[in-house]
Amino acid sequence: MIKGLKSLSTLMTPKVNSAKRIPRAQISIKGLFQLRGGQCVACLEPHAHFGLCTPCRQDLPANHSHCRCCALPIAYAGDELICGQCLKDPPPFSRIVAPWRYRFPVDGMVQRYKYNGQRAYARPLIQDLSTHLTLMLETHPERTPDLLLASPMHPARRRKRGFNQAADIAEHISRQSGIPWSADLVVRNRRTRPQRGLNREERLANLRGIYQVTRIPPASIAIVDDVVTTGATARSLTEVLLEAGAREVQIWALARTPG
Ligand SMILES: [Zn+2]
Ligand SMILES: [Zn+2]
Repeated sequence: MIKGLKSLSTLMTPKVNSAKRIPRAQISIKGLFQLRGGQCVACLEPHAHFGLCTPCRQDLPANHSHCRCCALPIAYAGDELICGQCLKDPPPFSRIVAPWRYRFPVDGMVQRYKYNGQRAYARPLIQDLSTHLTLMLETHPERTPDLLLASPMHPARRRKRGFNQAADIAEHISRQSGIPWSADLVVRNRRTRPQRGLNREERLANLRGIYQVTRIPPASIAIVDDVVTTGATARSLTEVLLEAGAREVQIWALARTPG
């Protein structure tokens, strides 16, 4: 790990992991960590490109070897690997694309963005995801979806958080790719317990019956989300879209947890 990344860990850990959320205004008043334009969000060096300097960008935990279906990180490198879970219970989606693993410093960058509304921390990840997808679609134009669907958030949670990060990411990818996006093709019927801390079976049970498709979906859809954890949300959403008439669903996200 490069020396500069220490600054992200020491400054972030007490704030991001504290149970009490700190209002955005308070953070800037305290001057805990005021980013200047062109500054790297990880090491504070002044010469960043889309929020990260070159060494910090190269040091991000790329998800190179992974299950070709659900993007689960796998230790052994290879293109055609499928994880045990996908072999046992093939998922309804065609693939998950997630360029990074959800670990330091990506986890802290996403948490600052999601829970503290500090978009500057996710900007390099969103920009680089967009570039990654552009390259993928150049190689595999048949994977171009008709629509990007922001993973739906219950309105009450959205109000509390102030924004839906999935919609923010989908909008950015849409601007760069020209693929239209939607945040209301699928809505959440009811609130669920937060998925954090639940195992795979509990997550699937927690999500049963919560999604409703509001109109006939197009044939090919890419669901956009920030992080894929167990893939339970991806499975549930894909199933309702397929039942409503979609033919192919893929998932595009910033990062994938190790398991
Ligand atoms: Zn840096
Ligand atoms: Zn898999």
